[in-house]
Amino acid sequence: MRVLGLETSCDETGVAVYDSELGLLAHRLYSQVDLHADYGGVVPELASRDHVRKLIPLIKEVLAAAHTQPQEIDAIAYTSGPGLAGALMVGAITGRSLAYAWGVPAMGVHHMEGHLLAPLLESEKPDFPFVALLVSGGHSQLLRVDGIGCYQLLGESIDDAAGEAFDKVAKMLHLDYPGGPQVAKLALQGNANAFAFPRPMLDRPGLDFSFSGLKTAVLTAYQQTPDYDNKKADIAASFEAAIVDTLVRKCERALKQTGLKRLVMAGGVSANLRLRTQLKDLAQRKRWQVFYPSPAFCTDNGAMIAYAGCQRLLVGQQENLAVTVKPRWPMTSLAPVNSLNNL
Ligand code: ATP
Ligand code: MG
Ligand code: FE
Repeated sequence: MRVLGLETSCDETGVAVYDSELGLLAHRLYSQVDLHADYGGVVPELASRDHVRKLIPLIKEVLAAAHTQPQEIDAIAYTSGPGLAGALMVGAITGRSLAYAWGVPAMGVHHMEGHLLAPLLESEKPDFPFVALLVSGGHSQLLRVDGIGCYQLLGESIDDAAGEAFDKVAKMLHLDYPGGPQVAKLALQGNANAFAFPRPMLDRPGLDFSFSGLKTAVLTAYQQTPDYDNKKADIAASFEAAIVDTLVRKCERALKQTGLKRLVMAGGVSANLRLRTQLKDLAQRKRWQVFYPSPAFCTDNGAMIAYAGCQRLLVGQQENLAVTVKPRWPMTSLAPVNSLNNL
């Protein structure tokens, strides 16, 4: 089955063609970063309009790169939530209209399920069950994953998401948006022990996260450091160490609690090198396995949507023709793919 995947949930237009037998045939990403840079964050109305401008040309480009004619596409998968309502509508309307015109089914995909399954695009993929650390711009969750669509929430952030904390700290340090990669780059030149930032919620049991106190501690340090321009790299490094330590320790707890020995990391923050290295080291010591997507598939992309949609379409899941988006949509409410198989 050959699936065209469309991602338009936020500020990236992602398109890909995935073939269930041949793998990923082509993918392209157009980022709106420059468009939103002056505002320090995503402006929803501008995001929707830009998706309208870019989506069709990008689809044409990807089909050409995949050496695929429209009549060779068996289905279309598009992100139907969660995300910005207007931005989601662009992908949903385009996906449903093309599918109708081409006489193929269309499937709305959960954006976070896309992130979660992105590591399965790699040649070395994890078997089920596993513990997943999903860390992105809007989510920080630990899940037990027993199969596609079989998700048990083990813990999540009670305030900011990990990526959001990176972005807010970047703003404090006058770095460009999106801040995660900028903070990580600056941190390479700093001393991670220069500032003793808190490791939130490690002092109590459970698998929830909280990052807003850490963010405030960074702001206070920044305000109380007179020569902060010389200390920016130290602040970035100490912040990154605090957040990574916290995530790693919670992963360790989740694996102990579930008795599982397999960890999968996904979402934009899983591109963070310090996090990848520390989890790999921990896994080596404990003889656990750890998996993550290649960096291009950590952040938003069309390939993960094509892949996730394809898995549901392959077992015969169907949707009606209505164009609906779900700006809020809990991942634990998704249908399991295994039981669909038995329908
Ligand atoms: P969600 O997926 O929750 O809806 P999103 O789509 O905006 O949110 P992603 O695209 O998965 O999030 O990831 C973007 C986030 O990842 C941003 O917050 C960004 O700062 C962060 N990020 C990207 N690369 C890195 C990195 N190397 N280190 C830390 N954070 C990073
Ligand atoms: Mg983004
Ligand atoms: Fe995302």
